[in-house]
Amino acid sequence: MAHRVHNFYAGPAALPWEVVKKTAELGITEFDGQGMSVMEISHRSKPFDGMFKKAQSNMLKIMGLSEEDYAVLFLGGGASTQFFHIPFNFLREGMTADYVNTGVWSKKAIKEAKYFGNVNIAASSEDKLFSCIPKEFNFTPGAAYVHTTSNNTIYGTEIWNFPETGSVPLICDMSSDFLSHPVDFTKFSLIYAGAQKNIGPSGCTAVVIRRDFAETAREDLPTMVNYRTHIGKDSLFNTPPSLPVFVIGLVMEWILENGGLEGIYDINKKKADLLYGAIDNSDGFYKAHVTDVASRSFMNVTFRLGSEELEKKFIAEGAEKGLMGLKGHRSVGGCRASTYNAVSYQSVEALVDFMKAFKAAN
Ligand SMILES: *Cc1c(COP(=O)(O)O)cnc(C)c1O
Repeated sequence: MAHRVHNFYAGPAALPWEVVKKTAELGITEFDGQGMSVMEISHRSKPFDGMFKKAQSNMLKIMGLSEEDYAVLFLGGGASTQFFHIPFNFLREGMTADYVNTGVWSKKAIKEAKYFGNVNIAASSEDKLFSCIPKEFNFTPGAAYVHTTSNNTIYGTEIWNFPETGSVPLICDMSSDFLSHPVDFTKFSLIYAGAQKNIGPSGCTAVVIRRDFAETAREDLPTMVNYRTHIGKDSLFNTPPSLPVFVIGLVMEWILENGGLEGIYDINKKKADLLYGAIDNSDGFYKAHVTDVASRSFMNVTFRLGSEELEKKFIAEGAEKGLMGLKGHRSVGGCRASTYNAVSYQSVEALVDFMKAFKAAN
C-alpha cells in the first residue's frame, strides 16, 4: 500500500483512500472497458454520459432533492467564480442583495456583488473577529436574494441553523461543509461548493440550483455566465472537468455506502467531540478560537497555543509524525485541523494523542 499521512489540510484536502484507489483503477488505467482513461474519452460518448448523469443524480439523492426542481451543474472556475456569476444573474441595477458576513470568503463574495447592485450586510460577526455566527439579521424586504457562507474555513465557524428568509431566495456557499451533515436543502434556491474540500479534487464547482430560480435571471447575459445555458444542456454545454467529475461520482457512492448524510454526520460529530474535547480540557494549553460552542465548525477546528514559537514547534513536530497541514490560514495564524468527511476518526485520534504528548513535554 502507498504511504498515507494524516491529512489535515484545508483544501485541497483528504479524499477517501478507496476513492483514490478506484480513481486509479477505474478512471485512469482504463475507464469502463473502453481502452482509454476517463481523461481521454469524449464527453459526448455514452459511457461518459452515463457516469456524469449518475454523479448528478446521486448528489440530488443524497441531498433529498428532485430532478424536477433542481439541476446539478459541474462548472470550472472555482467557487470564487460563483461570487460574480450569482449577482451577474440575479442582482439587477437598483436592486439590493442581502449578504451575511461571516469571514474572508463572505467578504470576497460581497466585493463581487457590489459591481452589480446594492449590497446590504444583513448581519456580520466581524466585530467579534468572526469567532461566532451572528444571531440577529436585518433583511431587506424584497431583496434579490440572501447570500450566506455555511462554513468559514479560515475562522472555524459553521451555520447550524439557517435564517428564515420567507419568499426571498436563499443562496449558500457551502464549499467547506458540503454534504457533511443533514441539511434541509429545499430551503435553498442555489447552493455552490468548490469540490476540493469535501467532495473531490480541485477544478470543479458543484452548483445545485432551483430550475425556477434560474428562470428569474437576467436575459442579457454572456453565454457561459448564464445558468440557463448550463441547465439547458444538463451541464454539458461545453467540455466539463472530466476527471474531477469522475472522482466526485465515486465520492457520492462512498457517501451512500456510509449511510448517507446521517452516517457521515455521526462520524464527523465523533471526530469534532474528540478534538474540541482535547482543546477544552487542556487547562488552557490549547485555546479554541471559537468559544461560542453553537458556532463551532465540525470541518475546520482552529486553536492557538501560548506563543507563536510554540505553535511553530507544534506544527513542525506534528509534521514529523505524519500529521500534515496543521498550520492556520496565513491571514489569522495559529493552528487549524481540517477534519473533512474523508479524514478518519483514527487520524483525529492520532492528532489528539500527539496534542496530549506535546502538552506534557512543553
Ligand atoms: C475554499 C473556499 C472558497 C474558494 O474556492 P475556490 O474553488 O478556490 O474558488 C470559497 N468559499 C469557501 C467557503 C471556501 O472554503
